[in-house]
Amino acid sequence: MRKNNLTRKTIVVVGGGSAGMLTAMFLSEKYRVYLVEKEKTLGRKFLVAGKGGFNLTNNAQGDALVKQYSPSHLLAPSLKNFTNNDLRKYLSKLGIVTFVGSSNRVFPVKGIKPIEVLDAFKKELERKNITVLLNHKLEQLNDSNVLLFHNKEKKRIDFDYCVLALGGASWSKTGSDGMWLKLFDNEKIKLNSFQSSNCGVNIKWDKAFVENHAGKPLKNIAISVNDYIVKGEALITAYGLEGNAIYPIIKSIRKQEEDKLQLGFKLDFKPKNSIEELDQKIKNSKSKDYSKQLNLATHELALIKQFTTKEEYLSSNQLIQKVKSLEIAVDSLRPVDEAISTVGGVAVNELNTDFSLKNTPTIYTVGEMVDWDAPTGGYLLQGCFSMAYTVAQALNQKVI
Ligand SMILES: Cc1cc2nc3c(=O)[nH]c(=O)nc-3n(C[C@H](O)[C@H](O)[C@H](O)COP(=O)(O)OP(=O)(O)OC[C@H]3O[C@@H](n4cnc5c(N)ncnc54)[C@H](O)[C@@H]3O)c2cc1C
Repeated sequence: MRKNNLTRKTIVVVGGGSAGMLTAMFLSEKYRVYLVEKEKTLGRKFLVAGKGGFNLTNNAQGDALVKQYSPSHLLAPSLKNFTNNDLRKYLSKLGIVTFVGSSNRVFPVKGIKPIEVLDAFKKELERKNITVLLNHKLEQLNDSNVLLFHNKEKKRIDFDYCVLALGGASWSKTGSDGMWLKLFDNEKIKLNSFQSSNCGVNIKWDKAFVENHAGKPLKNIAISVNDYIVKGEALITAYGLEGNAIYPIIKSIRKQEEDKLQLGFKLDFKPKNSIEELDQKIKNSKSKDYSKQLNLATHELALIKQFTTKEEYLSSNQLIQKVKSLEIAVDSLRPVDEAISTVGGVAVNELNTDFSLKNTPTIYTVGEMVDWDAPTGGYLLQGCFSMAYTVAQALNQKVI
């Protein structure tokens, strides 16, 4: 396919996930826009995100929003340029009304299914006359504004500008397999290897502990690494722990790995009680049973036993210390493919502030393929959408 002779310039957005779709939707109609995806449908990971709690964004405002991202300087201008409130207004124009739920997470209102949100995106792509090519895999990227795709046969698309939105490397069955790293020449651009983020942790449990307690929740707990504390829940699994209190500390665990330290965190089973209050509870109780004295479930006591000597367990003072601050050794992180998101990909220093590549400014990169990190709870999609807006705005300014 050769660049047509019309005066309209051509933009090819490669990757039909969250970031790619929104970039295409934000682009001016003065451009001829292609959205090219290697899978047979658009937005497969977006739909997977919709299966759990579908957090389209988070209602944290201003700096509270920006500080969730690292490196925050990369995302800050975009998050201010296209805020969570702007996103909610934009979605509403597409017919997707949202509400702020628990922990500030923003969901589509009841009754709107994830597939309907995706359909609203597709309708907008159609309204804007964007040419969507499915089953087209980008196989070659070069410096001469030409992309080579593979469908049933090789296909060439010439472009004036190209936006790569190729995703991270988790949930490869959705298409985000990270194989695009091979498209780049390592000597020309720094690419960081992918690592799990927002994932579970492997812990060496006793066999009996797993048999008796896998599948049980730890509610209203606090997890900490150094001064960083997260309140929430975790689920005991056969391999370790998973859940919203675990995901935010993964960045700190990766840092421990990098610094070659023992991996681990502290678990507080009673974040609402001080040591003194727990001590009083034991003293005031008629029961000799810790689970009744401290209101701990059997599986919580069993977990404490996993990381406590018999002497410590039998001394109420020492036990209370453990209840408030149980040191849990982590063996490793769960594999990249299982993670909710990944870090790694295009190194931040390779990018201009509008996310174009310093060494090839006609090529832009957006979304999870860039090496940034954020916790779950809507921040990931907001990051992708804000980046998409910034890129589209930069490109729209070129045509106007
Ligand atoms: C289980 C789960 C739950 C999640 N829940 C949430 C949530 O509630 N809230 C939230 O904010 N985030 C959530 N996320 C994260 C969020 O879905 C991702 O961060 C986001 O989808 C990333 O968007 P992206 O466009 O950068 O990448 P992707 O959505 O992964 O899209 C990349 C696209 O590029 C295509 N592609 C790759 N290589 C090529 C190639 N060579 N040629 C052509 N196409 C190619 C892929 O097929 C893919 O479709 C969740 C993720 C998972 C896995």
